[in-house]
Amino acid sequence: MRVVVTGGAGFLGSHLCDALVARGDEVWCVDDLSTSGPGNLGHLRDEPRFRFVAGDISESLRIPCPVDAVAHLASPASPPDYHSRPLHTLAAGSRGTENALRLAGRYQARFLLASTSEVYGDPLVHPQPEDDWGHVNPVGPRSVYDEAKRFAEALTMAFRRSEGTDTGIVRIFNTYGPRMRPYDGRVVSSFIRQALRNEPLTVYGDGSQTRSFCYVDDLVRGLVAMLDSDEPGPFNFGNPDERTVDELAHLVIEATGTASGIRRLPLPVDDPTRRCPVIDRAREHLGWSPKITLGEGLRHTVEWFRSRPPDDGGPETPHDDGF
Ligand code: UDP
Repeated sequence: MRVVVTGGAGFLGSHLCDALVARGDEVWCVDDLSTSGPGNLGHLRDEPRFRFVAGDISESLRIPCPVDAVAHLASPASPPDYHSRPLHTLAAGSRGTENALRLAGRYQARFLLASTSEVYGDPLVHPQPEDDWGHVNPVGPRSVYDEAKRFAEALTMAFRRSEGTDTGIVRIFNTYGPRMRPYDGRVVSSFIRQALRNEPLTVYGDGSQTRSFCYVDDLVRGLVAMLDSDEPGPFNFGNPDERTVDELAHLVIEATGTASGIRRLPLPVDDPTRRCPVIDRAREHLGWSPKITLGEGLRHTVEWFRSRPPDDGGPETPHDDGF
């Protein structure tokens, strides 16, 4: 297959590019590198079945040949990233999704939307099944991401219904693993970075809020299965092993052997109190479920963070160079 991966230089996107190239697909990665660096793709530089196109998909998305599938992952995804780039986030979810859908429609290609657990907002139903319609503050600071993804889902379904586009939607819950940016502000990357520097782990609020963390390899296996299917979804993709943020902090302390303690900081506005996916649909329709335990996944991730050069620890500045 020839597959376009928007956001293919990012954390999830680069792992998806790897999995597709490894099984023999031709991959066109499109990314504006606004919240990622080309470093995630350096190992694919000499791979003949891999192409990199630098560009903002909310402006245009042109590929000079027919394609079989479009995996649309491009968007700022960590809370600090979408808070600092609110208009860019809304544009990626709206115009960017439309451009990606039009590309898929032109070639009768499979279209995969990487949506998010954020469509459930601060959920009233727990754990979250796909038919929970969500509890989102439309004017809160998180709305730029939540509503962009909700709009992207609506647009995807409209293309499916009115244009006959072969679409699939997955809602991705918290995912972690190698290639997370140390300063992306997410909880796993922040805790590991802090632990490895023997700095206190910054727990927001009382640490009783929960998340369910899925290791990246499990997640990518699901994305590939969804690309290969003709299932419309939406399917929740995540690991139902729900943990409090406090518990996660202690697991990271244990996995790193750090001398760090805990520092409590205020809870961000509209921070969801609970998150846990019901994954019965993905299990039934795709035969997918996560396999890697949180302990094992954290060990791999810590190992990767340890292997980074010492000067890799600074806040990353946006890149606008391709390679
Ligand atoms: N969090 C925390 N300390 C940090 C970063 C995040 O306690 O240094 C908390 C955050 O308030 C949230 C949870 O960890 O309750 C997950 O945050 P993250 O930004 O990773 O993802 P999201 O909120 O989008 O699920």
